[in-house]
Amino acid sequence: MIRNSAAEMAAKLNAGDITSVELTQLHLDRIASVDTDVHAFLYVNNEGALAQAAEVDAKRAAGEKLSPLAGVPLALKDVMTQKGVPTTCGSKILEGWRPPYDSTVVTNLKKNGIVILGKTNMDEFAMGSSTENSAYGPTHNPWDLSRIPGGSGGGSSAALAAFEAPLAIGTDTGGSIRQPAAVTGTVGVKPTYGGVSRFGLVAFSSSLDQAGPCARTVLDAALLHEAIAGHDPKDSTSINAPVPQVVAAAKSGDVKGMKIGVVKELNGEGYQSGVRSRFEESLELLAAAGAEIVEVSAPNFEYALAAYYLIAPSECSSNLARFDAMRYGLRVGDVDGASAESVMNLTREVGFGREVKRRIILGTYALSSGYYDAYYGSAQKVRTLITQDFNNAFEKCDVMVSPTCPTTAFKIGEKSNDPIAMYLNDIATIPVNMAGIGGMSLPAGLAPEDGLPVGFQIMAPAMQDDRMYLVGAALEAALLSKWGAPLLSKIPALAGA
Ligand code: GLN
Repeated sequence: MIRNSAAEMAAKLNAGDITSVELTQLHLDRIASVDTDVHAFLYVNNEGALAQAAEVDAKRAAGEKLSPLAGVPLALKDVMTQKGVPTTCGSKILEGWRPPYDSTVVTNLKKNGIVILGKTNMDEFAMGSSTENSAYGPTHNPWDLSRIPGGSGGGSSAALAAFEAPLAIGTDTGGSIRQPAAVTGTVGVKPTYGGVSRFGLVAFSSSLDQAGPCARTVLDAALLHEAIAGHDPKDSTSINAPVPQVVAAAKSGDVKGMKIGVVKELNGEGYQSGVRSRFEESLELLAAAGAEIVEVSAPNFEYALAAYYLIAPSECSSNLARFDAMRYGLRVGDVDGASAESVMNLTREVGFGREVKRRIILGTYALSSGYYDAYYGSAQKVRTLITQDFNNAFEKCDVMVSPTCPTTAFKIGEKSNDPIAMYLNDIATIPVNMAGIGGMSLPAGLAPEDGLPVGFQIMAPAMQDDRMYLVGAALEAALLSKWGAPLLSKIPALAGA
């Protein structure tokens, strides 16, 4: 049962083959048996999840009309507030904090009867590409426990790949939904900026942050996308327009006549050979399904990474000022006679990890009066150029595609002392965030040289998120008939399972 897709689980719930309480318990049992090895979860909410499930079962028994995913369990990235449930963002500074309110994503999940199993591990404040920056220890990739599950949302993707949850929520500022999806053989979608409310998403870089669905199939991601998306007056950047019809697109998967633009700059040197061969093979399958493959160029993408590492740290240096030892979680050095400033300094010294401090320093510098124009100002100009590159390319194609990341999952510890090597993981995912458009990663198979999952990225113009699901569903179907079974059926069994 736990290996089914969320849509299949929903069908079984509807048919009365299983109750939500039973389904939730199966997942809680699975977490209890494998998560000591995987460490996808920071907090498992046994009681809360079962209570939520019982509520859905009661409604179903009473004949109430329920939403499509009602009763299906989900794992929530620990950057989203859920009332009364610990929310740490992978940081010591928030240890012990229980938010007094639900994020809008959580409100929407609850409204749809989706059962929240617990909170998943992440790089501290979503800064990282490996989940090694979590103050609570790394998450392990279920394909190979000595490897990273991607980041920052490695906990969410690992939970999917380890069959601890069929659905998860991630957030993507520079790739944190798509890169973990790629290296764990799962599906992850960053919706158009503003498509999903940021209310209750603890801010890293507000102009880039976006929550989105993580799942094992394209249809499951679409169902979750529709459950969490929509206008929210509590988020001033939320889009006030109908949600794109992503479920219909995922069910159709008809790409006949669609133009698919291969980004010249995101598919060459620096990409692992198996990543490139799986990417090429996916293009052939899409062509066989009736799409036209064209080449497009985005000359300014080469500046995206540098500009991102000015904009994101700048916004983070401002956003993280709120962790002042007074309002949330940790407080250090609060002894008689201690000044507020010394308590603040000590708390931030102890509470923040190295990467967070590095970014705060970088961002503070980039925003300082003498350097603002040279650094932050230039980065914003690059952002405009990247948006123009996308606009130009989308005149020649309906979606753009690339490998999601240059390599498969690397070893835990391999890049942790080399920030630039770590940052390079996001070379192909960052342009999407800079332009505020949508991006999806889905599994394209295993790299022959190491047997690890490869991600295929699809990018669509703003508000046209349905196009990613159309192409994603077509590729998924073609790959499925080639493989004969979903990619995750090839995952090695975990100890304890
Ligand atoms: N890896 C990128 C970073 O470290 C992106 C993180 C994210 O999307 N939250 O900033």
